[in-house]
Amino acid sequence: MTIRDNVRAILAEVPPGVRVLAAVKGRTPEEIRQAVDAGIGWLGENYVQQAERHRPGVGRGVEWHFIGHLQKNKVKQAIEIFDMIETVDSLDLAAEISKRSVQINRVMPVLIEVNIGGETSKSGVSPGKVEALAAALFCLPGISLQGLMTIEPAGERPEAGRPYFQEMKRLLERINALGPTRMKYLSMGMTQTYRIAIEEGANIIRIGTGIFGERRATC
Ligand SMILES: *Cc1c(COP(=O)(O)O)cnc(C)c1O
Repeated sequence: MTIRDNVRAILAEVPPGVRVLAAVKGRTPEEIRQAVDAGIGWLGENYVQQAERHRPGVGRGVEWHFIGHLQKNKVKQAIEIFDMIETVDSLDLAAEISKRSVQINRVMPVLIEVNIGGETSKSGVSPGKVEALAAALFCLPGISLQGLMTIEPAGERPEAGRPYFQEMKRLLERINALGPTRMKYLSMGMTQTYRIAIEEGANIIRIGTGIFGERRATC
């Protein structure tokens, strides 16, 4: 299967209203462009530098989402490159994004990254702290909080992700019931798990290997 075939198959399969984001870490601009030409409109990159380097080669007509761990000292650069930051996990980081965005007259769309499995190895805010963080983020002038994102714990089978996806959906609904502003996005599900995630309410899925094939070893 070529990149083009993979993209076509996934786009044909997902229901309307679900955005397919291609996770492009470690891919070349040529590979990324093939995915875009086949119909991918959103790209997700884990590294600010990589996105900066690849953007010219990939060209126009796509949105770039930041899906890695964002350090405060990269925020200034990130807000000039990305259309959405999906991985906000502290008020400190959000405040920096807001401040820098106000300085350049923009409002940055963001998602809160939730560490839904409570794994020490992963970033993201713990489920019990999401509501308070969301409430604080709604007050920041330079960001627009639009939903939640998670990387679920790796499981033996895709089905293992289901309870985590259900918990994410409940969190989103709880915050929407509280707040004046409705959050619309649930970014969850990857190559192994996106079908389950969609069943449980995902409307952004992030696909890497399912589009580009296995990642090459970096040497
Ligand atoms: C790499 C990555 C993905 C895609 O993972 P695959 O299993 O290759 O589909 C999704 N989300 C994030 C945050 C990633 O880093």
